[in-house]
Amino acid sequence: MEILTFVVGPLSTNCFLVYSAETGESVVIDPGFVAERELERIMDQLERLSLKLKYIINTHGHPDHVSGDLPLKERTKAKILIHRLDAYMLHEPEVQLSAYRFKRFKPDIELREDDEIRVGEHTLKVLHTPGHTMGSITLIGEGVAFTGDTLFAGSIGRVDLPHSSPREMEYTLREKILTLPDDLKVYPGHGPATLMGVEKKTNPFLLELKRGGKLS
Ligand SMILES: [Zn+2]
Ligand SMILES: [Zn+2]
Repeated sequence: MEILTFVVGPLSTNCFLVYSAETGESVVIDPGFVAERELERIMDQLERLSLKLKYIINTHGHPDHVSGDLPLKERTKAKILIHRLDAYMLHEPEVQLSAYRFKRFKPDIELREDDEIRVGEHTLKVLHTPGHTMGSITLIGEGVAFTGDTLFAGSIGRVDLPHSSPREMEYTLREKILTLPDDLKVYPGHGPATLMGVEKKTNPFLLELKRGGKLS
């Protein structure tokens, strides 16, 4: 499984192009771009590598992760995927950020826990990781995890937003993130990649939960 990272949009979102060099199938995770030239950078890569874009997958419904969904779909005919609990954010966004104005739309496929997304001979498995939003997901591939705004290098996503839940985030981190293998490479929605083992040892939020503490 090959992974290319594009840092896009006003909030420096990590947008990932994940593909199989074997079959040329690909998916884009979190196309949170707004500028035409950012779309062109992704289109150029698809063309240069002769890739067919199958899916556009959103780790959650915030504007900085979904704003490029529709323009990318219009160019590639790829299907848009998001967890069913965040689907409403695409057609009735609660959070309207002026920097991220986008046309409302509906996803093509609503995801659930344990769904498997095929990318050539590879699989991305859906782990439902609510807290930052109720429909946040982490995508698990071979040796890698795309954590969206659930887990960052040295930090976690905000849980003080109207549709977020510190309690759900605690459960997610304790039961779903802390139980993932140490050698998993973590690709967060913002900032640098990291290793799960490093986060378990050094991330202050995970350390606090391991000590029995709370986020709120
Ligand atoms: Zn977010
Ligand atoms: Zn974000």
